[in-house]
Amino acid sequence: MIKKTALVTGGAGFIGSHLCGRLIGDGFKVICMDNLLTGRLSNIKHLFKDKNFKFIKHNVCQYINLRQKIDYILHFASPASPADYLNYPIQTLKVGSLGTHNALGLAKQKKAVFLLASTSEVYGDPLVHPQPESYWGNVNPVGPRGVYDESKRFAEAITLAYHRTHKIDTKIARIFNTYGPQMRNNDGRAIPNFISQALANRDITVYGKGTQTRSFCYIDDLVEGIVRLMLSKVNEPVNLGNPDEYTVLSLAKKIITLTKSKSRIIFKPLPQDDPKVRCPDISKARRILKWQPKVGLDEGLRRTIEYFEE
Ligand code: UDP
Repeated sequence: MIKKTALVTGGAGFIGSHLCGRLIGDGFKVICMDNLLTGRLSNIKHLFKDKNFKFIKHNVCQYINLRQKIDYILHFASPASPADYLNYPIQTLKVGSLGTHNALGLAKQKKAVFLLASTSEVYGDPLVHPQPESYWGNVNPVGPRGVYDESKRFAEAITLAYHRTHKIDTKIARIFNTYGPQMRNNDGRAIPNFISQALANRDITVYGKGTQTRSFCYIDDLVEGIVRLMLSKVNEPVNLGNPDEYTVLSLAKKIITLTKSKSRIIFKPLPQDDPKVRCPDISKARRILKWQPKVGLDEGLRRTIEYFEE
C-alpha cells in the first residue's frame, strides 16, 4: 500500500514532535518543518534514523516549495507558551497569519487535508464556563496575550474561508493546556516551571493567589484526539483537552508532593489578562470522535517528572 504523507509544521516543538512520532508509528511518511525558534532538534532526534521521516528547516511564513505528494498538512508552527509569545510577539502574529496562509495555499495546491492547531486562548478570559465551541470568547486584542489569541483567531477564520471558498477539507483543533515529556524546562508554563523548581528545591512561583483554574491534558491523550480529528469528517472547531479542572495552587501542591520536594510556595504578581478559569466542554469530541482523555493528572505528572529528572 502506498504510504500517505503528512507535513507537520512546528514538528520539532513539544506537540509537533509527539505528533511526528505517532504518525511514523501509524505508517505515514512524515515531513517535519520547523525554523527552530522555539522547537528543538533534540525532540525529534530519535526519528532521524527512520527512512519515512524527513526534517526541513524552514520558516512557514516564507513560501513553501515541496515537490512531493502531500496528503495531510498539520499546522502546529507557533510559539505557544505565554513566555514565548511575549518574547516573540511579531513572529507569533506572522506565523498565525502569513504562516497559516502559506500552509493553506500548499493544502490547496496538493489537495491535502489541513488541520490547524488552534487554542483555548481563542476564548480569552472566558465568561462562559466550561467553554463549548459555540462560545465566541472574551479576548483583549491589544493586551499582551492578544498577539497569540488574535493570530489564532485569524488562523481559524482563514482556515474556514479556505474551506468555504476553495473546498479544502479543513479541521480545527482548539487545544487546551497540554503537558508531558519534551516540554522545555524554560518554556515558562506552570507545569514545567513548577517541576523544575520542585526538583531543584527552589521556591515555586505561583502567580496571583493561585485561585485561577486550568485543565491539564496529557500529551498522549491529546495526540490521540488530533489523529482522530484529522481522519474525521468534521470541518468546524473541536475542543481537545482534559475537563478535570484544578486551581494553580493545588497544582503546585500536587507537584511538591509527587517530587517529595522541600520547595516553598511563593506568590508573584498575576500577569495581565491571565484567564481566571479554563475548562473544555468536550461533548463534541466525545460524540464525534469517540474521544476522551484517559491519563489522569497524577499519572501524567509522574511521567513528566521522570522526563525532567533525566
Ligand atoms: N503560572 C504560575 N506560575 C508559573 C507559571 C504559570 O502561577 O510559574 C500560572 C499562570 O499565571 C496561569 C496558569 O499558571 O494562571 C497556567 O499558566 P501557563 O503559562 O501554564 O498557561 P496558560 O494557561 O496561562 O496559557
